[in-house]
Amino acid sequence: MDGQCALCGLSNSVRICKNEEGKGPAFCSTKLYQDVIEQAFEEYKKEDIGTFAAEAARQEASAYSHDPRTGMLMPIKPRIVETMDFCRRMGYRRIGLAFCGALHTEASVISNIFKENGFEVVSVMCKVGGVDKANLGLTGEEKLRGDTFEPMCNPISQAKILNASHTEFNVLLGLCVGHDSLFLRYSEAMCTVLAVKDRLLGHNPLAAVYTNHSYYAYLSGKSLPVDEEGAAAAD
Ligand code: SF4
Repeated sequence: MDGQCALCGLSNSVRICKNEEGKGPAFCSTKLYQDVIEQAFEEYKKEDIGTFAAEAARQEASAYSHDPRTGMLMPIKPRIVETMDFCRRMGYRRIGLAFCGALHTEASVISNIFKENGFEVVSVMCKVGGVDKANLGLTGEEKLRGDTFEPMCNPISQAKILNASHTEFNVLLGLCVGHDSLFLRYSEAMCTVLAVKDRLLGHNPLAAVYTNHSYYAYLSGKSLPVDEEGAAAAD
């Protein structure tokens, strides 16, 4: 049996992963993989990994405050602030920014924000090197503009340039699916993702998830819901 946390119907108040005396369903990952979880904890015992994990946990807690009216927890920091907070916690001063060319304007703003907050920044755009996609074996039909020069995204070079620049922490901005994977594989420094690429949804892939009951119902093999008058419910 495989772990199926995504399908767990238990509430946070009873889940075994959220409560010391909690419970889990038959497909519970906490119950199925006790040995793996114990092995994983050996990693946290390594000094550098343990420090990183502890600071990430401290960062998580610092991202909330209590609403003065209700006393309830509320988030107080956007991700870009958390990213800089975390760098300060870890003592990182030199940040790598690996970005997509379609987000050049945003990369410029982010680079300046980091610098204004006291960090050094090394930034590298995806097309660095200007290497034609033909070098990956792509034909004209597989390119966007036919049989003309078309530079490939070059995430391995992005990672290696930041490695050579001795960045202490790398921030990904809008790298494509797959290109981000290669960057993460080749980066020597720990990484975080400030934003992911979604060409259609303004770099907000969850928009398709939030509207899975309506416009994006087709992702689940369903038609657009229809109301009582027979009109599309999401028009
Ligand atoms: S670990 Fe178990 S209890 Fe927690 S979400 Fe996964 S299945 Fe549910």
